[in-house]
Amino acid sequence: RLHNTILELKGNIRVFCRVRPFITDGNVYDGSAISFPTSTDLVGRGIDLANQTQKYSFAFDRVFGPDSSQQDVFVEISQLVQSALDGYKVCIFAYGQTGSGKTYTMMGRQSSEGEKGMIPRSLHQIFKTTRALTSEGWEYCIQASMLEIYNETIRDLLLPGRPGVGPEASNGKQYNIKHDANGNTIVSDLTIEDVHSQEDVDRILRQAEQSRSVGRTQMNEQSSRSHCVFTLRISGVNKKTEQQVQGVLNLIDLAGSERLAKSGATGDRLKETQAINKSLSALSDVIFSLAKKEDHVPFRNSKLTYLLQPCLGGDSKTLMFVNVSPEVPSAGETLCSLRFAARVN
Ligand code: ADP
Ligand code: MG
Repeated sequence: RLHNTILELKGNIRVFCRVRPFITDGNVYDGSAISFPTSTDLVGRGIDLANQTQKYSFAFDRVFGPDSSQQDVFVEISQLVQSALDGYKVCIFAYGQTGSGKTYTMMGRQSSEGEKGMIPRSLHQIFKTTRALTSEGWEYCIQASMLEIYNETIRDLLLPGRPGVGPEASNGKQYNIKHDANGNTIVSDLTIEDVHSQEDVDRILRQAEQSRSVGRTQMNEQSSRSHCVFTLRISGVNKKTEQQVQGVLNLIDLAGSERLAKSGATGDRLKETQAINKSLSALSDVIFSLAKKEDHVPFRNSKLTYLLQPCLGGDSKTLMFVNVSPEVPSAGETLCSLRFAARVN
């Protein structure tokens, strides 16, 4: 029996597991590889399918089964979104193999109100709250940026003119990451958009989706091979009390975590997979050493962790969604994802 340390190492890190529904693709599956005895426990069938008596179990802060709606999940993160409005730096990650529901969780289906994901729902809550606070003298400035990290290279998803891929797509822009004296990350040349309304948000998400899908056709499924980082900077000033708050909310759709052996990668694909493995293990190393309160936190080992450095650790708050597929053929990858989560706890 594998045991994670979640209950011992609470800190500012929460881990939620979300299991997506079965996708019927014509294959008949031998039942689900996963069951959920309680809202915080998950039991998986042995990955050695010849030996199905072998079981593993994990405990999380929450486990969302296949029937949970986007709203059910959002209810559990709305407190964190509120923290960003209160001046905290917040990171919400989605981790898991390709096809496990990361993008569904973060973005959801834009065409269906009930299926909108955590990004549009967070913005909806932020607008609702900031509007309500204007009567108390608060004025907010909300700015969004959205970038992709592919093979340790940054691409601006909000660059006007629907960029393609490759060096020409960035028009000679550099995207160097710096941290200023106030503990903010600055990415040179990155597009930053003021957002005032739901319409602004819809426009930004459409633009990003378009940029991502251009990459997809030109660079075989690049979107699942890259990290997508959506960042909201929230600055509030109260004209009556002269109070100020500055919070940051990052929502990160991580690259697919599947292992090398399965993809049988060579050449560029091999390089890609190695870059992903390197940055995902850099992320887990950072979260692990923060949780253990180690003196040296290896932020500089990847673009992703360096970018997010000011928003990880300190009094910032982190939530990791571990997205998993329920099908038996995915059981091996599922176990790997759960083990990753157990480590970052
Ligand atoms: P990933 O981003 O991890 O590669 P996706 O979010 O694209 O995975 O999900 C794979 C497929 O499963 C998509 O067609 C998506 O719409 C669907 N899906 C994922 N999670 C859910 C869910 N909770 N409810 C309904 N459909 C889902
Ligand atoms: Mg995806």
